[in-house]
Amino acid sequence: MAFLEVNNLNKYYPITDSERFHALKDVQLSFEKGELVSIIGESGSGKSTLMNLLGGLDSQFDGEILVDGENIGQFKEKEMVAFHKEKIGFIFQSFNLVPHLSILDNVTLAMTLSNIDSKTRKARAKEVLEQLGLKDHYQKKPNQLSGGQKQRVAIARALVNDPDIIIADEPTGALDSQTSDQVLDIIQDIAKTGKLVIMVTHSERVASRSTRIVTIDDGKIINDEKRPPLQFHDNAFQIKEKQENKNLSFFAAIRMALLNMKEKLSRNILISLGGSIGIMSIILMLALGKGVNDYLTDTMNENVNPIISEARMTEETQSDTAAAASVETVPATAPAQPSGMGGGGGGIGGTLLADNPAAQMSKNIPFEEANIAELEAIPHVEKLELSYASFSMGSDTVVYEGENYAFMNFGTTSENMTDSNILYGEFPDQGEVLITEEMADGMAGNAEDMIGEDVEVKLSVNGHALTGTYTVSGIYTAGNAIGPAGSFDSVFMTMDTFADMNAANGLTVEPNVVYLYADEAGNSQDIKDAINGLGYAGSSTDTLAKTFTKMLDIFTYILAGVAGISLFVSAIMILTVLYISVVERTQEIGVIKAIGGRNKDIRRIFVSESFLIGLFSGLLGVAIAALLSTVGNVIVERIFGTTILHMTPIYALLGILASVIISVIAGVFPANKAAKLDPIEALRHD
Ligand code: ADP
Ligand code: MG
Repeated sequence: MAFLEVNNLNKYYPITDSERFHALKDVQLSFEKGELVSIIGESGSGKSTLMNLLGGLDSQFDGEILVDGENIGQFKEKEMVAFHKEKIGFIFQSFNLVPHLSILDNVTLAMTLSNIDSKTRKARAKEVLEQLGLKDHYQKKPNQLSGGQKQRVAIARALVNDPDIIIADEPTGALDSQTSDQVLDIIQDIAKTGKLVIMVTHSERVASRSTRIVTIDDGKIINDEKRPPLQFHDNAFQIKEKQENKNLSFFAAIRMALLNMKEKLSRNILISLGGSIGIMSIILMLALGKGVNDYLTDTMNENVNPIISEARMTEETQSDTAAAASVETVPATAPAQPSGMGGGGGGIGGTLLADNPAAQMSKNIPFEEANIAELEAIPHVEKLELSYASFSMGSDTVVYEGENYAFMNFGTTSENMTDSNILYGEFPDQGEVLITEEMADGMAGNAEDMIGEDVEVKLSVNGHALTGTYTVSGIYTAGNAIGPAGSFDSVFMTMDTFADMNAANGLTVEPNVVYLYADEAGNSQDIKDAINGLGYAGSSTDTLAKTFTKMLDIFTYILAGVAGISLFVSAIMILTVLYISVVERTQEIGVIKAIGGRNKDIRRIFVSESFLIGLFSGLLGVAIAALLSTVGNVIVERIFGTTILHMTPIYALLGILASVIISVIAGVFPANKAAKLDPIEALRHD
């Protein structure tokens, strides 16, 4: 049996659904190693069609093509890949060198696809290139060579895996007659080493140098002329030691992607920059969210006595108590409040609005004995402090020198207030009050001047109007308290003074805030949980902080989401650029397929490229974000004395990860398109 046998080969090209073109008709041929076969014939006679079938670039045919007894029409992808890697070498009319790879890399490409180690790869490629007289050109790019040199590189590439068959479709078609002759000498030499060389040519002169001339016309072999055989020569192009063929490694794919990206450097820098903007904004948004949150937490901790927890009545606890004490009479002063008047809402320092001020204001509910007993029984509570706080919409006033000054917040002092809350003067004693700075300013022009002055305080407590005259002992400030704190005009007095005020007006004082003192700060959270568990409301500061943090989180996520849109845009950008890249590299994809690249390898090369773009934009995004937050923090710190952009390594990592994932996903579509290209069409593409 001949080395290469073609039996009854018919090729049809589908034209329409019902029509097909009969390109090869009952072709019957057999070839042996060492032959140099010229296929000649008119243009359109079917020469290229035959070559593509023999080379396994097209597996759609009727009949048999037997190489070493195996029908290549029946090959699975794996066998076809091995066939391309080991048995076949292609030489094309238009050279089809990969423009962004060096001469050496063009020749090692086939071995790279087989994952042969780089030392062997280079040594082997250099050996073949040297034999072809290209010793001085290893690092040049294809466009730095002449036509004849390019074709010699292509021949080196075809020979480097020591194939049995060389398929050359018009190898001299693009060369002048002198270089043609040189190339032909080489091709003749190749056949002399015992390889089967089949080439298509138009030139009689070229054909005359072969051992056999097969003439094809309209898809039929019309002549098969045997000529004197070549003198067998040494095994010049043979591989001494064959390595096992493996598949393209990830590293090699990354390296190939890098080489291509280097070629299109400015384009890739621009894409990475575009992609980095999205990553940068997301990281900055998250850093800002964290910064503000950290600031809030710090400020809270500064202004809160960690020993003290706060409890307030809620409607729930009130009805529970009422049910438990159903026999007892409901106090005469029970919540018959004028709507919108009076109500809870004071807090630590008594000036914070809770998450729902309207609801809060209707909940100025006094504690009952049972409530106080229940709170006292909470483990780790050392003592209770009964207090009163109310919030009014302008019905409470201070009268000074005949002028009315409305204020919103009234509260009794507690140990929860610290010296930092006293701007001037001191804490109030019996018969004394604290007023806020702005009120005092309004009264005396200079807040400090109000100390020692007498003022009349008018309060609305559960529908009763209370009045009393008190001496201003100090000026209150909310200090660093959060949010609207400090912005409300407030009046504070001791619980005893407030009790006297009630008594003077014929009422008994009804505490509506209880401060619970923990035995140690570590137990405060348990106490707070217990307070909530029993159905009482906690400190409005806590509630506010929680609500604020929650709002801040939502806000951060919305901002990050908006920033995420730019990620989407960059994904589309990467998609587009890679599609363009696939089109630009169509020939290269054809070459890779012809020399034994699997679809998977091609996909891998393109996905590697998108992976690298993702990685670079991620790194760039993190770098820019780090730079901007450093600069931003320096500026903010100078103005506000605190930093506000808190970037963490997790955010950086997340940003890079997101960038890589998004671009790899975007890269999959073009990579698939590349992998699915038909090698024949791809090779013809220019
Ligand atoms: P040659 O290489 O001898 O010039 P080809 O083998 O390229 O000729 O083409 C042989 C015939 O098959 C031509 O008539 C050509 O139009 C037709 N042909 C080649 N490729 C296709 C194709 N993909 N679809 C349809 N017809 C084709
Ligand atoms: Mg042709």
